[in-house]
Parts: sequence; C-alpha cells; structure tokens
Amino acid sequence: MSYYYYDKDECKFVPVQYDAVDRLIHTVSQLLLYGIVISGVVISMIVNYAGTPSEIALRAENRELTSQLRHTRATILQLDEQLDQLVANDNELYRTVLGLDPISMDERMAGTGGSDRIAGLNIYQSDTSELLRWTLGNLESIERRVNIQQLSFEEIKAYYNENQQKLQHIPAIRPINSIITSGFGPRMHPVYRFRRPHEGIDFRARIGTPIYATGDGVISMAGTNGTYGITIKIDHGFGYESLYAHLSGLETGIRTGRRVKRGDLIGFTGDTGVVEGPHLHYEIIRDGRAVDPLYYMFADLSPDEYIAFRRIADTNERSMD
Ligand SMILES: [Zn+2]
Repeated sequence: MSYYYYDKDECKFVPVQYDAVDRLIHTVSQLLLYGIVISGVVISMIVNYAGTPSEIALRAENRELTSQLRHTRATILQLDEQLDQLVANDNELYRTVLGLDPISMDERMAGTGGSDRIAGLNIYQSDTSELLRWTLGNLESIERRVNIQQLSFEEIKAYYNENQQKLQHIPAIRPINSIITSGFGPRMHPVYRFRRPHEGIDFRARIGTPIYATGDGVISMAGTNGTYGITIKIDHGFGYESLYAHLSGLETGIRTGRRVKRGDLIGFTGDTGVVEGPHLHYEIIRDGRAVDPLYYMFADLSPDEYIAFRRIADTNERSMD
C-alpha cells in the first residue's frame, strides 16, 4: 500500500517515502493487528459454539456423574433384591423355626421414604434431579433395612447361644442327601387317587439310601406301621418329633428307647407300605401337629436350595405318599 502527502510548493500529491526499517515495522504491526482481530473473532466463535474450557470440563464431568448415578441405581436395585431374599429367609426360616415373632414388612420399612435432604434437589435438570432423588431415597431405605436385619440376626444369635441345647434337639437338617419331589399340604394320593392332606414331604431315593436323624432325641418307634410301612419316629423333646416312613430296613441297634444324635445313621429308604415307588416320606410333628418340614432344614440348606425346594414343593400336585 502507498501513502501520499500534498506538496504545497509543487501543488501535487507526492508518494511518502519510507525507509526499509520503517516499512518493515509498519507491515509487521499491521499483520499483528489483523492476527489479533482474527484470533479474537475465532475464539469468540469457539466459545459461543462449544463453551469456555471450564464449561466443557463441567459438561464432561456432568456426563460422567450421570453415568455413575445410573450405575449406582442398578447396584441399588440388585441390593434391594438380595435384601428381600434375606428378609424372606429371616422371617420364614430362622425366626419362625426358633419361635421368634416375624418382623412385619411395615416394621422393616418403617421411617423410609421422605427426607429433607431430598427436598433440596430441584435445582438440577429434571432427569438428573429425579435420579438423585431416587438414589438418595433408596440408599436411606436400604441402610435402614440392613440395620433392622442386623438387629434381627443379633437377636437370633443371642437366642441360639442361650438355647444351644434345645437347638441341638430341634430337627434342622435334611434326613437324606437327595432332592424333594413333593411338598407338605393337600396332594393327590398316587394310589388312592384323591386329594388328601400330605403331612410330610417326599424325597426321591433308590432303595437302600442312608437316612439320618435330623436332631438329637430318643427313638419312640421303630418297626412296621400300617400304610407307612417300616417307620422310625424320634422324640426330640421340646414338643418336636420327626418321622421317617416306607423304609427298607433299620440300622443295626436302632430300636425304641435308643438315644440318637443329629446326623446318626438310623435306617435305609425303601418302598414298604402304600407308595408309588421307592422314596422317603419325612414328617415333623410340633406339639402333636404335622408342620411343613421344609422350615426345618435351615442348618444345611442354602437360600438358593431352599428356594428351589420350595418351588418343587409348591408346584408338584402329586405326592408319592
Ligand atoms: Zn409322602
């Protein structure tokens, strides 16, 4: 670019003469100025479009937190399910069998839901706020349920320590290493072909499978007993009896009056009496009335096995008797 000045003496425009250094400084300053202007425009465009660096970092952090929240929610749902299982076992198995009052669902859930901590979260985007509210609410509920469960287990432990002798007598294991085929309650009789109370549970077993005493006690009957075939009955004291029917034979020395310990071999499975096939019919009698023996295997059934046994017991409509 050229610049001119007006020469009054000559009455005309004359080009300004720069020396080389002046011209270089001039050009560089112009370039710098353009550079600054262009960079400014570009930076302001980037900021408008993508946000400031701190905004970009915040957004990434937010995405990460949201994903962690979703992950936490999945974990909470899983914990909740496991806790339900614990509660069911606690009420159905341990507390019922030990004669402790079950803890009701109302008591277990008492005080959960609703909190001041949760009320202050409305400032966030609605879905994030919903997720946070849900997460906090459920964490509190789980925390509370776990505490109640812990108290319950401590109560059971204390009861166990105080009543070890009694608990050694209460039937608490499977009488046979086998799978249940039919449960307690009204069932179709395999031979008589009508529904009638099935006062025990049936285990599938080949003839000659070992049968064990399920708690300490005294043999109160050992021999043939009508439709039950060869039968053993143990008096465990504390109001409990157990009965093992359709045997093929007794272990040597097993007779009325003999003391047995939990786990002692007492006899062998068979198909004597009125039956459909070889199996063990097992009963528990509490204060003179037959009760569901599935509740009395807590010492050697895992929760998963219990659920599997319970499912078979509840779905199979026929007994082997
Ligand atoms: Zn049966």
